[in-house]
Amino acid sequence: MKLAGRVLGMSPSPTMAITSKAKEMRAKGIDVIGFGAGEPDFDTPQHVKEAAIKAINEGFTKYTPPAGIPELREAVAEKLRKENGIDYEPSQVVITDGAKQALFSLMLSVIEEGDEVIIPAPYWVTYPEQVKFAGGKPVFVETKEENNFSLTLEDIEPAVTEKTKMIILCTPNNPTGSVIDRDELERIGKFCAERGILIASDECYEKLTYDGFKHTSIASISEEIKNVTVTINALSKAFSMTGWRVGYAAGPKEIIDAMVKINSQSISNVNSIAQKAAVAALRGPQDFLNEWLSAFDERRRYMVEKLNEIPGVKCLLPKGAFYAFPNVKELLKMAGLKDDFALADYLLEKAKIAVVPGTAFGMPGYLRLSYATSMENIKEGLRRFHEAVKELL
Ligand code: PLP
Repeated sequence: MKLAGRVLGMSPSPTMAITSKAKEMRAKGIDVIGFGAGEPDFDTPQHVKEAAIKAINEGFTKYTPPAGIPELREAVAEKLRKENGIDYEPSQVVITDGAKQALFSLMLSVIEEGDEVIIPAPYWVTYPEQVKFAGGKPVFVETKEENNFSLTLEDIEPAVTEKTKMIILCTPNNPTGSVIDRDELERIGKFCAERGILIASDECYEKLTYDGFKHTSIASISEEIKNVTVTINALSKAFSMTGWRVGYAAGPKEIIDAMVKINSQSISNVNSIAQKAAVAALRGPQDFLNEWLSAFDERRRYMVEKLNEIPGVKCLLPKGAFYAFPNVKELLKMAGLKDDFALADYLLEKAKIAVVPGTAFGMPGYLRLSYATSMENIKEGLRRFHEAVKELL
């Protein structure tokens, strides 16, 4: 059977491939430490699980409206008002199968053949694939390490043409952990609003910030910016609910209505039980987050310190998410390795640690290591990394 061009042109997720490879090795009894994971290693909070069990016992197990249950759309609107300072009506919210499907459905709703979408690099691996799938053209702009990989208006400006339809912002960022502060968001937002460029604001990691940094939602800055922004988020990272598959998008009503229509003709609705659990998560206590954040913070500092002790490795201290993104260009030169893929392969074979090469995120010469794993794994994994490098030099 000849497959469709749109799927033949799509690359499978390289981060998921690394995680599967590490899992396979583990299944064979090999002691692999995984730094590939894009999910918190904490359990979903108990009160959230209980809400799901209650939903099952009460028979809340049928189709829901494609936009999501009214209670959850309201809880999201309430959350966005209280926590993010953005005023959306519940009718401007669509519940999606994680943030990934929110982005997918947004692209299918607004991108036409040949439209250009600006994607700051390094980027989350899914963005360009989804843009291409929708018929759009990804246009990459590089963020600079000297600027802590934080996107600026100057990075974007030269890439804008009359075909620019959308820009994807991701702060806190995957894979760098960088953040964009309010002033820069305002400059970028004004620029986009003046030109009618749509902003897809991926805020999945909003709650995971360190050193006192406070996340700003770009749509909260002004009415003009809000009118060209779709705010995307999920319960996946903030509530450790990656497998539950609940996310959402909020924005101009005509776009949200289009996304609801896509839901109605594709997924029908997000799992009814998970939607009830999401209401409990959004409206319930969030004190568990402090504990998670201090664990992440300790691991972040330790990981970055140890990475910087490895010859030829240079790593910034990220302000958000749960990833370190070390520069290994010098190490590649010193060891005579071809590229970051060769280094990641060597580390998997020799040190039995799984890391993701920066090339997967559009930034060769780097690695991504997730610190969403135990301190014990981080200590042992980085010890192995260092030892394996010593043997190379
Ligand atoms: N956006 C970014 C930047 C991510 O890193 C991820 C997950 O890794 C997602 C979206 C997808 O989140 P979800 O699991 O809610 O679909």
